[in-house]
Amino acid sequence: MGPRHFLVLGAGVVGVTTAYKLAANGHRVTVVDAEDRAAMVTSYANAGLLAPAQGYAWASPSAPGLMLRSLWRGDQAIRVRPRASWRQWRWMLRFLRECTAARHAANSAVTSALCQFSQLHMNRIVRETGVRYDAVQGGLMYIYRSSSGLESADSKAAMLRQRGIRLERMSGRDMLEVDPGLSRIAGDAAGGLYAPGDESGDAHLFTNALVERAEAMGVTFRFSTRVTRLVRRGSTIARVETDQGDMTADDYVLCLGVRSPDLVRHLGIDLPIWPVRGYSITVPVTDREAAPRIGGVDYENLMAYCPMGDRLRITATAEIAGHDRRFTQADFAPLLDKAQAMFGHCADFSNPEYWVGLRPMTPHGAPIVDRSPVGNLWLNVGHGHLGWTMSGGCAAIIADLVDGRVPNYDLEGLRYG
Ligand SMILES: Cc1cc2nc3c(=O)[nH]c(=O)nc-3n(C[C@H](O)[C@H](O)[C@H](O)COP(=O)(O)OP(=O)(O)OC[C@H]3O[C@@H](n4cnc5c(N)ncnc54)[C@H](O)[C@@H]3O)c2cc1C
Repeated sequence: MGPRHFLVLGAGVVGVTTAYKLAANGHRVTVVDAEDRAAMVTSYANAGLLAPAQGYAWASPSAPGLMLRSLWRGDQAIRVRPRASWRQWRWMLRFLRECTAARHAANSAVTSALCQFSQLHMNRIVRETGVRYDAVQGGLMYIYRSSSGLESADSKAAMLRQRGIRLERMSGRDMLEVDPGLSRIAGDAAGGLYAPGDESGDAHLFTNALVERAEAMGVTFRFSTRVTRLVRRGSTIARVETDQGDMTADDYVLCLGVRSPDLVRHLGIDLPIWPVRGYSITVPVTDREAAPRIGGVDYENLMAYCPMGDRLRITATAEIAGHDRRFTQADFAPLLDKAQAMFGHCADFSNPEYWVGLRPMTPHGAPIVDRSPVGNLWLNVGHGHLGWTMSGGCAAIIADLVDGRVPNYDLEGLRYG
């Protein structure tokens, strides 16, 4: 197949990596996004972890209890805010169906394999382009305050270890040797799992640096342009209507994050994606020596942390609560308290950058990376809590599929429908 013109809908980390891969394969590419620059929505201030060693699906046997208890307790790992939205209820029913031990194991096998595959492609993109994004390559630390938490995480990790993902069990003292920045935590912790192969970096910086490289390769970006409708003629998309006029291409790739289902529903395409809300704060580091060297997750506090250059990012919360991204400072109080207890000695929490993001979650946790039932429309959507980690691999898969090549990856679990 010769070069074609692709219109990539969405300039988050998924859309931009897709555009880059398509352009690298010789296609003409245009990217359209409603925001005035790339990665301003869910890819803006996520936890930053590139984490194959945490590539588990969220739907698990413990999830239904967490969701139920969240109705009267605010400290659960997954929270539900009941809403009069039948779409939310339908998504939650689908999610609950994925919560058996067997489904959790099968889904986690898909997500962790995709994260591993993706890491190779992400590293390839970084090598090819030289983009800089406050990357840290020294691994990630997964911390457990209780012995029971550590035991269960360690036995669960067997599945990942079988795949060749390294996870080393550590005492508090070992953890401190790997990362002296954990001085306020290591003493209280039962221990941790250290994943030397995991990485981290700022997805917003990465995506915008990649926009520059893609532009140099001839990719056109149309920002501040909202897609309003995909118009079908026969079995193909004929044009895309936007608030800045119509756009046409040979093929279209849908990468609209949490908004993806809305734009294709009228085409009969049912994408089981619902937003799962999370919070982050970003604060300046005041003492580099005392700050964490690598990122990680404090499981009992349900908090991820990540050094990003001279900043520290801390994230928490998974709330099934619809598309609302509004927040008040009070929403951040529990996160701020815990973050300050851990890192108050090395970062300035007096004026944090607050952010709320919506993870585009599928019930099973894996994205949909496939051709849609409409011939020239491709889907790269639903990357949930691991979209930064999965973006490189999913872009490579789509770039193979559109050219009729069999991807070097088993698509089982990623297909539409
Ligand atoms: C709190 C939090 C922490 C996270 N931590 C991690 C982590 O540590 N590691 C990890 O791997 N992942 C993490 N994630 C997940 C990751 O951030 C997402 O999976 C990823 O950013 C999704 O990228 P995307 O490109 O699909 O979506 P987005 O970044 O949302 O991109 C979609 C784009 O579509 C555009 N758009 C939408 N509608 C329209 C329209 N009608 N017209 C034009 N443009 C439109 C938007 O403007 C946006 O730019 C986290 C997410 C959250 C919320």
